[in-house]
Amino acid sequence: MAQNKKGLNTVCTHTGELEDKTYKGAISPLYMSTSYAFEDVDVKRYPRYFNTPNQVGLAIKIAALEHAEAALIFGSGMAAISTSLLAFLRAGDHIVLQKTLYGGTYNLVTEEFEKFGISYSFTDGLHATDFEEKIQNNTKVIYIETPSNPLLTITDLKAVAEISKKHGIVSMIDNTFASPVNQNPLDFGIDVVIHSATKYMGGHSDICAGAVASSEENMQQIFHLAKNLGGSLSDYTVWLLERSIKTMGIRVRAQNQNAQRMAEYLLSNEDIDAVYYPGLPSHPDHEIAKSQMKGFGGMLSFELKPKFDASKFQKSLELIKPSMSLAGVESTTLSPTLTSHSLLSAEERKRQGIADGLIRFSVGIEETEDLIHDIEQALRKVKEAIKLSI
Ligand SMILES: *Cc1c(COP(=O)(O)O)cnc(C)c1O
Repeated sequence: MAQNKKGLNTVCTHTGELEDKTYKGAISPLYMSTSYAFEDVDVKRYPRYFNTPNQVGLAIKIAALEHAEAALIFGSGMAAISTSLLAFLRAGDHIVLQKTLYGGTYNLVTEEFEKFGISYSFTDGLHATDFEEKIQNNTKVIYIETPSNPLLTITDLKAVAEISKKHGIVSMIDNTFASPVNQNPLDFGIDVVIHSATKYMGGHSDICAGAVASSEENMQQIFHLAKNLGGSLSDYTVWLLERSIKTMGIRVRAQNQNAQRMAEYLLSNEDIDAVYYPGLPSHPDHEIAKSQMKGFGGMLSFELKPKFDASKFQKSLELIKPSMSLAGVESTTLSPTLTSHSLLSAEERKRQGIADGLIRFSVGIEETEDLIHDIEQALRKVKEAIKLSI
């Protein structure tokens, strides 16, 4: 636990690193072995038991980053989410989930849980009372995601943790959008923190992985199911992820700054109808965000004026790439209407506050002047097209 006292970038760079005793190289050696001795050893190691040297080293780093006692690394964010949920839910149990969720998690719950006999409720709003209202006698888990996708709503960590404790319920958070750089939910009393490491932990759009961190006791319960489900991560990718996390602190802090600058620019642009970013004083949850986040993150969303075609706008961008995923060092955009929320009816999208002109913007580490220039030239092209069509 003494390691937790080190500063963020020191933990990112060093915590959990493996010593190269043979050659004294500067970085962790990579142990690709899938077969280890079983006699005369303290631990019987096997990749699916989450206990190879590289897996264990990286888990120590991620636990330290989330101020947790222990962590496990998974083959994807969804492997981490599904294993954590099912570790605390059995037939007859009920779960309360926040109403705006990552699409994959929403699909997992609505498409799979019924066959396990697990019932679920989504909250109507995001206030503490909205969560308490949905609790039943058999509720075992409360699940939140803050900041949320794609509208960057903020859920009060402390309030949710207090409600969960009062009712003896396990609280879980998907902390992907904030990253451990900006938010450490365990400090506010949340029990289990989950990441899609495919996003800010990987940070270069080339790794698919997940992670969970919690108390030793909770992680034992998750591990028990994890080894049976088999969602561990291969050692080569574990090793790449360790390398990526060394720069996570400086990457995410640069992205925080860039996103704040871009949010302010977009707010002042008369072709943009709305900007959703928790770092803006005009964001309805700005005060809660300030109380629980160390930085406001690299994700924001904005709405083009309805007369502008969101698809044409994104095709006109030259530097910023329309892209399914997020959180890389390169800036990307996504249209929820055309991708993550395309299967919802137009009315349902409207109910959720997702306009056709809504664009989710994952802000990278480029110079903001260049990003602004790119948006301006794309807006000019979209306006030209309107003029030509009249
Ligand atoms: C991407 C993502 C996930 C799922 O992670 P995978 O690594 O794609 O399985 C879960 N939650 C959030 C918020 C995400 O952005």
